[in-house]
Amino acid sequence: MPGVPVLPATAPVAAPAPNGSRLASGDDGGGAKTVVDCVIHARWVLPVAPTPDVVLDHHAVVIHEDTLVAVLPSANATALYEAVTVVHRPDHAVLPGFINAHTHTGMTLMRGCADDTTLFTWLHDTVWPVEGAFTSAPGFCADGARLAMAEMLAGGVTTFADMYWFPSEAAAAVEAVGMRAVLGMICIGFPSAYASSPDEYLAKGEATAAEFSHVDTIHWAYAPHAPYTVADETWADIGRRAAATGRPVHTHLHETRDEVEASVAGDRTVPSCHLSDSAARPLVNLARLGLLNRRLVAVHMVHSSAEDIASVAAAGASIVHCPNSNLKLAAGVAPVADMVAAGVNVALGTDSAASNNSLNVLAEAKLGALLAKGASGDATAVPAATALAMATINGARAFGLEAITGSLEVGKKADVTVMKIANVVGCEPVFSPLSAVIYAACRKDVSDVWVNGRRLVADGVVTALDVSAVVAKAEGWRARIDECLHGVRAKQAAEAAEKDEAAAGNAS
Ligand SMILES: [Zn+2]
Repeated sequence: MPGVPVLPATAPVAAPAPNGSRLASGDDGGGAKTVVDCVIHARWVLPVAPTPDVVLDHHAVVIHEDTLVAVLPSANATALYEAVTVVHRPDHAVLPGFINAHTHTGMTLMRGCADDTTLFTWLHDTVWPVEGAFTSAPGFCADGARLAMAEMLAGGVTTFADMYWFPSEAAAAVEAVGMRAVLGMICIGFPSAYASSPDEYLAKGEATAAEFSHVDTIHWAYAPHAPYTVADETWADIGRRAAATGRPVHTHLHETRDEVEASVAGDRTVPSCHLSDSAARPLVNLARLGLLNRRLVAVHMVHSSAEDIASVAAAGASIVHCPNSNLKLAAGVAPVADMVAAGVNVALGTDSAASNNSLNVLAEAKLGALLAKGASGDATAVPAATALAMATINGARAFGLEAITGSLEVGKKADVTVMKIANVVGCEPVFSPLSAVIYAACRKDVSDVWVNGRRLVADGVVTALDVSAVVAKAEGWRARIDECLHGVRAKQAAEAAEKDEAAAGNAS
């Protein structure tokens, strides 16, 4: 494919030995081979580095302990390394694991319980009542996190950024499963079963982060929910904490037109108006409060002006594009082509399974690329390589993890996804593996996944979890949520009837 550099099989790509002190020499007298944990030989390696369009033909990825120690031609790997596990993937592409830069894992248990409605009706009439009834119930958040992880791993996701109540439950589940996660220290301006004030939310978040600091696949971000649920003084506090700790600030921003217009008008009667006396665009208000900098991870930004995009780019902040959720809730189409052209770091997120309804980053990559083309009228906008970067390294950059994950580079942690894209109906013929991965393949083509050097999916089977037990738990929660929603709907109908009766009485 023109413009895609396919390096020859003999190209020396990577030196074989960082972390040399941990690698053992397997000298058998015929020349020293280095003993490593795993070598994956593949038809293609798409390392997303040094640029996202690199395609390496007949290459191998070498893993030792938790680290990528080499990416090199297969023939060289065979000559240089003796592996405990050798994996041959002759019809496959090896990629950096996908990064889901925005989700709410607990809500996976609410998948499909309310569709085809607006964001605020969905939140007020379904999500918040269900959360009020169940998030503090033992196991709810952890069971949701496990269900989400089973789905994400099967779809090649190795890292996710979460924002949900009781993050200690997700943290314990993440530790047990072994995925990489950026867990959110949720903060919201009203009391919940989890905490009663912004100070308590933040104190609990910081304490949970400290409690799980021994888990090297768990990272933390401040997660103020949105400008319409968090007040100015809390934003300023979070800005100071983020500056002191270097942690990212992960928040929903400019998701709906109402949010921007009501905030500019200062119309607090609109539920999505920001909780500020400053009549301004929410992004402008966050900048005033000291939040607009490289630590800001702004989710959605569907309603972005040229000035918004320029100021995000200048600040080095990141945007997480969630195209499926934005379309399903009719929030609109984010101007992603303009964001990319302005140099903004754009990552991809699924949002929750309750508004998507899946946690399929590969589907976001394809839809993100197509929507950028369709909305801009420019078929060259967001090519396949850019979409792959959005699904991998850009998510890592958004959360300050680009030295750890997001690309297959020597010295990074071994977060690796393998997809079968050749000799499979739906992808053949493969003129370009980048094209096959982004435009033709589906998540069921994922065969293997390693996170931090541990193989969590093997031959298409998620081995990190007891998937049937996870599914059985989800079905149990469905029955309880269903019963709860029947009660909620009956109450809402009675209230509506009472209102109608009162209105009829007033009219007569
Ligand atoms: Zn969200």
